[in-house]
Amino acid sequence: MSLMSPPAVSPSATPFASPFYAPSANIVDLRESATIAVSTRAKALRAAGHPVIDLGAGEPDFPTPGFIVEAAHQALESPSAGATRYTQVEGILPLRQAIAERADTIRRAAGLRGGIEPSDVVVTAGTKQALFNACFALFAAGDEVLVPTPGWTSYYEMIALARAVPIAVRGARECSLKVTPADLRAAATPRTRGLILNSPCNPSGAVYSSAELAAIVECATEHEWWILSDEIYRAISYAGEAASLLSVVDGDSHAAQRLVVVDGVAKSFAMTGWRIGWSIAPSAVSRAMTALQSHTTSNAATLSQHAALAALTNPAAADAAVAAMVREFQRRRDAALELLHAARLDVIEPQGAFYLFVRVGEATADDPEPGTRFARRLLDESGVAIVPGIAFHTPEWIRVSYAAPADDVMEGVRRIVAQRIS
Ligand code: GLU
Repeated sequence: MSLMSPPAVSPSATPFASPFYAPSANIVDLRESATIAVSTRAKALRAAGHPVIDLGAGEPDFPTPGFIVEAAHQALESPSAGATRYTQVEGILPLRQAIAERADTIRRAAGLRGGIEPSDVVVTAGTKQALFNACFALFAAGDEVLVPTPGWTSYYEMIALARAVPIAVRGARECSLKVTPADLRAAATPRTRGLILNSPCNPSGAVYSSAELAAIVECATEHEWWILSDEIYRAISYAGEAASLLSVVDGDSHAAQRLVVVDGVAKSFAMTGWRIGWSIAPSAVSRAMTALQSHTTSNAATLSQHAALAALTNPAAADAAVAAMVREFQRRRDAALELLHAARLDVIEPQGAFYLFVRVGEATADDPEPGTRFARRLLDESGVAIVPGIAFHTPEWIRVSYAAPADDVMEGVRRIVAQRIS
C-alpha cells in the first residue's frame, strides 16, 4: 500500500510558483502549516477509502458542550442580540468584560495587582489571529524573536511574515526541552526584541512552573524584551491549571507593559471551528492590533462571540465540561505512555496539552530529518498520520496527538512502537 504520493507531511517550502505567478516577496519563503497539511492529507486519504488513523491534528474529538451550543441558538433567535451583524472590530463588550475579569481574577488570586480593562482585550478569529496581530504589531525588519524550541510551527512563520527573524532556542532534554534564562541569554543579540512562551507547550506537553516563568520574566524585563505568552492549552493540564504569565506579572509592573497574553476557547471547550481567540495587551498595543484587524478581518464571527461568552460566564457548567475532557485526555495519555515506556522509547511525559513528543532518531548529514522519514513510513506502511518534528524545528522527533478517539490513539501508538522497534 503506498499512501504517500506526494509526501505531504514535510513542511518544505510549498511550490506556489507557476508560469503565470511569481509569489510576492511577502510570501516567497512561506511554508504552509505542517500541522494542517497532515490532517488535510489524512482526511483526503480517508475520503479515498484508506482507513487512516489521524493522530496529526491537535483538535479535541469531543462535541462543543451543549450549554454553549444552546446559547448560540438563543443568540441567533433573538433579534436584539444582533448575532447576524457586525460588531466592534475588537469584539462585543460583554465578552471583553468577561475575558478581562477572568484575567484580573488570575492576577488577584496570585496576590498581584490586576488592572486589566476590557479595552486591553481584542477578540480575534481564533488564537492564531491574536498571535499574528501581536507579531505584526510588535516586530519588524531587523528584529529577532526568540522561540523556545520545539515550538508550534506557525510561530516561526508569523515572525517571518512580520519580516523579523525567528531564533530557535533549544531547551535541554533533562528539562523536558523547556528553556531557561541562560538558554535565552545565550541566543540573544542586541537585535532581540522579544520571545514567545507557550505553556503547556505544543508539541512537547511540557509545563513551566511559576518559578520558571518568573525567572524568564526577570530576564526579559532586564533586556526590555516583549513576552508573547500563548496560553491556549492552560486549562488542559494534569496537575491543576498551568500557571499563567498573568499570575507572575503584577499589573503595575514594568513587565506588564511588555506582556501580551493570548488565549481562546478552541482547545479547552472543544470549540475549534467557532474560531474565537483573544489577546490581552497594554491598551496602546490593543489599539494598534484593532486597527490592523480593521483592515484584515474586522470582528470575529458574531455568533461565535456569543457562544464564547456563554463558555466564559457559566463557570459551573464550564468547569464540569472542561474537567471531564481533561480527565479523558489524561486517561489516554497514561495508557499511551505505558506502551511507549514499555517499549523504552524516549518520550517527553506531557504535563499538559494533548501531544506525545517522541524521539525517533539522531539527525545526521545522511539522515537530516529522521522524524520526517519515520512519519512518511508510518503513514505509508501503517496508515497512521502524525506530525514530523521538523515542523517544530526538531527533526529528531515526532508529535502524536491524543485528542483523537481513544481506540485510535491506542492502535496508532501500537503501530508507532512496532515501527520503532522493527
Ligand atoms: N494547533 C493545532 C495543532 O498544532 C491545530 C492546527 C494548527 O493550527 O496548527 O495541531
